[in-house]
Amino acid sequence: MDFEVAIIGGGLAGLGLAIQLSKAGHRVILFEKEQYPFHKVCGEYISMESWDFLESLGIPLDEMKLPRITRLHISDCNGRVLQQKLNPGGFGISRYTLDDQLAAIAKLHGTELMQGVKVSDIQFENDQHYLKTSSGDFTAKVVCGAWGKRSNLDIKLKRPFIENTKLKTRQYIGVKYHVKLDFPKDLIELHNFEDGYCGISAVDNNRFCLCYLTTAQQLQQNQNNIKRLEDRVLKKNPLLDNYFSNADFLYEEPLAISQISFARKQAVEDYIFMAGDSAGMITPLCGNGMSMALHASKLLNIVLTDYLNGSISRTQAEKQYDQLWRENFSTRLSAGRVFQKLFGNPTVTNLTLKSLSHLPALASKLIDLTHGGPF
Ligand SMILES: Cc1cc2nc3c(=O)[nH]c(=O)nc-3n(C[C@H](O)[C@H](O)[C@H](O)COP(=O)(O)OP(=O)(O)OC[C@H]3O[C@@H](n4cnc5c(N)ncnc54)[C@H](O)[C@@H]3O)c2cc1C
Repeated sequence: MDFEVAIIGGGLAGLGLAIQLSKAGHRVILFEKEQYPFHKVCGEYISMESWDFLESLGIPLDEMKLPRITRLHISDCNGRVLQQKLNPGGFGISRYTLDDQLAAIAKLHGTELMQGVKVSDIQFENDQHYLKTSSGDFTAKVVCGAWGKRSNLDIKLKRPFIENTKLKTRQYIGVKYHVKLDFPKDLIELHNFEDGYCGISAVDNNRFCLCYLTTAQQLQQNQNNIKRLEDRVLKKNPLLDNYFSNADFLYEEPLAISQISFARKQAVEDYIFMAGDSAGMITPLCGNGMSMALHASKLLNIVLTDYLNGSISRTQAEKQYDQLWRENFSTRLSAGRVFQKLFGNPTVTNLTLKSLSHLPALASKLIDLTHGGPF
């Protein structure tokens, strides 16, 4: 079957783009390997910069009475806390709810939504993409890679960041729970432990998201056992000990992902326009990957609209998108990589937080570096 745009991956970048292009009347197909609604490893704190854009896509945020988060507490590995105001801060919504609602909106506007369908190969020939999927073969004029941090397609396409990751960069794992506990809804807490950090904040449905990132090495040292890792490493921070011991955990098993890396990637590769984590992933402690994914979908929509309407060539579209991507996100990604180095090492973390507690203006500036304005 023949489409103008094929989007691979139905997270925030893919769904955001599908809605915009479908609304404008383009023939769009979106492949998502899972079935909505589904849970995803994510801290579920969205910075306010995305509020207006999400509403413009059709999510009635105002009506949803979501928790507004305006305070940040960061603890060092011993549980000493730095308090910071977040201005404008963010809000909490589960990916279970958000992605499901966006998928419904995309479908409503005419996106051919292929759920439970995995793309296994993409070839480009004679200005046309050929896709192999678990539900047959498709062709499209444009392909958008919105498949997230790491996918089978990164390996298939032999993307350079996969090789670089093996050689140089650290690999991380992410674990997430939804819990019930007595906790303020306007607060996000970020607690450090050896080789990682754990965030807690409110989401919809009177739940809290408890999500952490640590190194693959730390998990290996704990016999690849998440419970043991939590008991022996995370609970050394007394604040985390309190949450892990007293919260009501709502999943039978934790949701976990591996092979996370923050290696540099390209925004356009093999004639594929990448958006969201597949173009570059910001470290989660910046709490901003979701906004970047949504913002990238807006930038890509502008460029693709011009290309599909025939006012620019494919080469021009690729150049323009690559440039826009760098202008908007490169500084934030670099700042995120630097901050990642400051967290997780107990001595460095303790020292950083101690210094920042005397310099609140600097702390605010650093947070600003990882955030953007409304788009
Ligand atoms: C531990 C952790 C905590 C985080 N906390 C936050 C936070 O609090 N706030 C924040 O803003 N960001 C946070 N992030 C980052 C945020 O989750 C991502 O930046 C965001 O989800 C990126 O959206 P995306 O659309 O690019 O990818 P995703 O949301 O990952 O979507 C990609 C989709 O592609 C699908 N897919 C993959 N391969 C294929 C295939 N071959 N065929 C079909 N479908 C495929 C996947 O199933 C997936 O649904 C966190 C990340 C981690 C790891």
